[in-house]
Amino acid sequence: MNKKEAFFIKTYGCQANLADSERLANLLREVGLNSVDDVRSADWVIINSCAVRQSAENRVYGLVNNLEKLRINELTNLRIILTGCMLYHGLPYLKKRLPKVDYFVKTPDWLDFIKAHFGASRRRSRITNSVTEYMGYALVPIMEGCNNFCTYCVVPYARGREQSRPVEEIINEVKDLVKNGYRKVLLLGQNVNSYGSKSKIKTPFTALLTRLNEIEGLKKIAFLSSNPWDLTDDIIEAMALPKMSRYLHLPVQSGDKEILRKMNRKYTPLQYIELVKKIRDRIPDIKISTDIIVGFPGETKIQFRHTVDLCQKVGFVKAYVSMYSPRLQTAAYKLTDDIPYKEKKRRWQVLDELINKKRCFNLDRFDS
Ligand code: SF4
Repeated sequence: MNKKEAFFIKTYGCQANLADSERLANLLREVGLNSVDDVRSADWVIINSCAVRQSAENRVYGLVNNLEKLRINELTNLRIILTGCMLYHGLPYLKKRLPKVDYFVKTPDWLDFIKAHFGASRRRSRITNSVTEYMGYALVPIMEGCNNFCTYCVVPYARGREQSRPVEEIINEVKDLVKNGYRKVLLLGQNVNSYGSKSKIKTPFTALLTRLNEIEGLKKIAFLSSNPWDLTDDIIEAMALPKMSRYLHLPVQSGDKEILRKMNRKYTPLQYIELVKKIRDRIPDIKISTDIIVGFPGETKIQFRHTVDLCQKVGFVKAYVSMYSPRLQTAAYKLTDDIPYKEKKRRWQVLDELINKKRCFNLDRFDS
């Protein structure tokens, strides 16, 4: 292998993808490749994709087109690899849709790909150490995949079923991070509450947080994401430990009971509000952010208004609001995507103004 070959990684999507990209970059450096910041200097361009929304996929299609133009105009020999969540579509679909991509590599298959193309890596596990930073936090994946099958979501198809890293591996990684000067860690998983659910301990996530709190030199521990249906009293108690961040991301998705049912979210708006109250009673200075989807199939104006009401009651510090887009293979894909784009956009704006811009708006005018 030519030791001077260089790679460039373009990452789309969430912090889990950021962490995956960094682990991949480490593996490639280990086998002698250089990372470069300019795509024109790269022999390999790796696109770590997100499939959560159609708009995220569209960015990948645009990038592949631009890379192909670069290949033609500058006669470069760069090879394009697609990895990440878009692989859930399956090879026949992707090869047809993205014929200019040279390789499609599923995230768990990277070790084999590297071995076949660049020689052996020392790594064994697919979830390995990484030192990616996000807002001053070192990212530490503690689990992958999801078993929940919310009807709009591709994650269980794209990332597979839940798989947790062993506690000792995580503890040792965090101790190493502290030795290397890191003081804050952000634990990552699609639903961290169910971390280690196959273990014999009653609430393994609580046990993990307790152990992490005991690490000398570590100052702050945060986690993403926690879902409302299995955020137990034990976990709330662990969240009150001294090193825990006072920020909680708690996706609500909708404030309407029927829409939540159609989304296969296992709580009602009232249960969500009661959970928030319980958390605030125990940790009064906690700040809560959320995810919301507007324009889910069949969402009426009244149902959307229930979401607005819930947001007003809860007082989120931030909301990641997205307009529903149907995703292949998901259960909701079979429902008619009947809310026009203009209406979805209007609902998006209402929540953005209310939560993120903290502006008042005239809901009655909106309703009319
Ligand atoms: S909990 Fe639901 S929304 Fe979150 S990753 Fe799993 S299926 Fe997707």
